[in-house]
Amino acid sequence: MVKTPIASLSLEQLTTWLSARGEPAFRARQVRRHVFAGDAGSFSEMTDVPKTLRAALDEAFDFFAVTLVADTRAHDGETHKGLFQLSDGARVEAVLMPYHRMGDSGEWTVERNAVCISTQVGCAMACAFCATGEMGLTRNLTTAEIVDQVRHWQHVLAAREERVSHVVFMGMGEPLHNYVATVAAVRTLIDPEAFGISARRVTVSTAGVVPKIDALADEGIPLNLAVSLHAPNDDVRRSIMPIDRKWDLDAVLEASRRYVRKTKRRLTFEYVLLAGVNDAPEHARELLLRLKADGSVPLSLFHVNLIPVNRGPGGFARPSDERMERFAAILRAGGLAASVRISRGQDIAAGCGQLKVEVERFARAARV
Ligand code: SF4
Repeated sequence: MVKTPIASLSLEQLTTWLSARGEPAFRARQVRRHVFAGDAGSFSEMTDVPKTLRAALDEAFDFFAVTLVADTRAHDGETHKGLFQLSDGARVEAVLMPYHRMGDSGEWTVERNAVCISTQVGCAMACAFCATGEMGLTRNLTTAEIVDQVRHWQHVLAAREERVSHVVFMGMGEPLHNYVATVAAVRTLIDPEAFGISARRVTVSTAGVVPKIDALADEGIPLNLAVSLHAPNDDVRRSIMPIDRKWDLDAVLEASRRYVRKTKRRLTFEYVLLAGVNDAPEHARELLLRLKADGSVPLSLFHVNLIPVNRGPGGFARPSDERMERFAAILRAGGLAASVRISRGQDIAAGCGQLKVEVERFARAARV
């Protein structure tokens, strides 16, 4: 029998369920604290909850909607990738990316623990450089399946008295193609009665689903939006992103500007650098002109994140460091903030959509 995941219950729903069993009013918050703080890995570990209630909860609900079936650490020793199985056997990935810094006393301290999560099994967007796009879309994840990827890593971190501090929706799938569950998951992440993560530490990325960019602006959640451009014109973009046939670059840029005007939030453009495809100096200059074209949003409210492609489908190659720096320098000289992001965990293929295929290869080899 498939049980309801506990994380899918609102405070009100859990309160109703508990009060029907004669439990006191404080019990719902007590149970939810365990569910979201990560100190318990199962109902039986909620030791301040009566044993009979723990058994009743266990009978009625699943503690996690996702089950870890394989995990890998990158050579950096920090980035940690998990492959999770869902109740129907489908699998998705979520990656923990801790960042340390040297404190004044000379000791390393954790600056943040970012988690990158998936929103769909596969993806319908079919970006040419992406392993998930190659798979096609199997199905959307439920809100609990999205949230429980974070809960898994929260549980791992709680054991060393740390917490998930940042969440990025950049794993498998197009988050805005699973809009309702994605927004509900974001609301759970920022709910002070659940995870309590600041919305400013939550990033949702999109390949450019224009109507949903507008819908997200109307939600009134001060999260970070990252829009994938990956090209300075429709010819190049269409050759690597089929979504450009539905919403072209002008439509995506206009929606991005509307988003910034409405939310007053800075917006990030993602740009994966593919050698010989979109990484030439003229591409950088063209991109700069496109972003400058409409004066309604100052360039200071945009940031361009340049990402060298991970090994993956399509046979695309990573440009040289000099070429990537040249591209960034042209944007910066034009007044646009630009950074080259060396992807965390590249050796475990922990880039957007490139996780599952690699992990499954690893899992098969390791007979996990
Ligand atoms: S890059 Fe993102 S949007 Fe494109 S196919 Fe991969 S998962 Fe989907």
